[in-house]
Amino acid sequence: MFDWLIVGAGFAGSILAERLASQRGDRVMVIDRRPHIGGNAYDHLDAAGVLIHRYGPHIFHTNSKQVFDHLSRFTPWRPYEHRVLAEVRSPLTGGAVRVPMPINLDTVNRLYGLSLSEHEVENWMAERAERVPEVKTSEDVVVSKVGRELYDLFFRGYTRKQWALDPSELDKSVTSRVPTRTNRDDRYFTDAFQAMPLHGYTRMFERILAHPNIAVRTGMDYGQARWAIPHRRVIWTGPVDEYFGFRHGKLPYRSLRFEHRTLERERFLPTGTLNYPSEEVPFTRVSEYKHITGQSHPFTSVTYEHPSAEGDPYYPIPRAENQALYKRYEALADATPDVWFVGRLATYRYYNMDQIVGQALATFNRIDASVPPRAANDTAEQRLAAAGD
Ligand code: FAD
Ligand code: UDP
Repeated sequence: MFDWLIVGAGFAGSILAERLASQRGDRVMVIDRRPHIGGNAYDHLDAAGVLIHRYGPHIFHTNSKQVFDHLSRFTPWRPYEHRVLAEVRSPLTGGAVRVPMPINLDTVNRLYGLSLSEHEVENWMAERAERVPEVKTSEDVVVSKVGRELYDLFFRGYTRKQWALDPSELDKSVTSRVPTRTNRDDRYFTDAFQAMPLHGYTRMFERILAHPNIAVRTGMDYGQARWAIPHRRVIWTGPVDEYFGFRHGKLPYRSLRFEHRTLERERFLPTGTLNYPSEEVPFTRVSEYKHITGQSHPFTSVTYEHPSAEGDPYYPIPRAENQALYKRYEALADATPDVWFVGRLATYRYYNMDQIVGQALATFNRIDASVPPRAANDTAEQRLAAAGD
């Protein structure tokens, strides 16, 4: 009898499995319908021997020392700060130019052939910024900071491709992920901790799950496991609407098709990622793993991301009506005893890896405060058995 059946071997499921096993002595079965652990962070060597991320580039960054310290128990790190260029049409020449993204001082100076200072670019942006009484949508966020021309160049097309929605139809939290800067900082993230697991994510997950109280079965769906594996409680990290048989209708998710390519050259891009905001290009971005992993190899591998309505659910879609539908599922989840919902799809939140680790650690504390550990169960069962004798 397992104390826990954990559905999903990604960050949410694996972090919780380890805590339950190591801190409480609980016996845990982790299953995943995919043929591997790691969830969307899974990485592996491709046919040429280049380390790639099967589900698109995963760059670790966090401001949480607690999260960083926790993961550091299972992996050494390689310091890495991600940089991104965007290829856009020059307002001066009409030709394609590659400039830093997030928009910063150099982006503006290069695009417009200017040599503004930090202070001057603040005024330049303020002159173009549109007055928005209340910033509500993903369009509001950008036009209220940099005006419509930069919005059209960098955000409108990219967002319409990525989400099949206009930025005016998306919650402000989506484009708020990407800041605007007036200095020359060209890092994509500014978090205090930015690093990649030195031997890759999959190796890190192997170590997280390598506890004698944890069993792992990949290639197994919950539909099968729920009958085949005796268990007391469930931790669900898949889509919340799926757990409830889509009772209230399908929650919208956005998918991607990943086009992986190996190129017979050492380097392809000047930075880890190149964004293509234009709607004339079908994909949103291409990423080159060797920048991110630091691997040396005579060839290089890249992934193009093609947004898609079909396929695995990767992104919850942040907008009011979807949140309202999620709330109905959340009410069901709250009323379901002995099942805990954790993770990006189970809580319908556009969370990064570090936020999922934080969520899983917080969930562990709640479980630990309310569910007796295995030892207590055993004692209770022994008592019952003894009473039966
Ligand atoms: P998942 O990793 O999705 O794991 C859930 C697992 O549950 C899956 O493996 C699934 O197969 C399994 N499952 C679902 N239903 C069932 C079932 N019925 N039976 C059995 N198994 C089931 N975050 C960052 O911090 N930095 C990045 O650079 C970054 N880049 C990203 C790029 C892309 C393209 C995407 C899609 C996401 C990116 N993320 C990034 C986010 C990151 O992937 C997530 O935050 C994280 O992986 C979520 O972990 P999770 O455990 O909640 O979910
Ligand atoms: N975005 C954009 N242009 C860009 C980069 C991002 O319009 O060049 C918008 C787009 O809506 C995207 C969101 O900002 O979905 C968040 O970008 P991020 O890079 O954080 O996306 P993720 O890595 O989660 O796919």
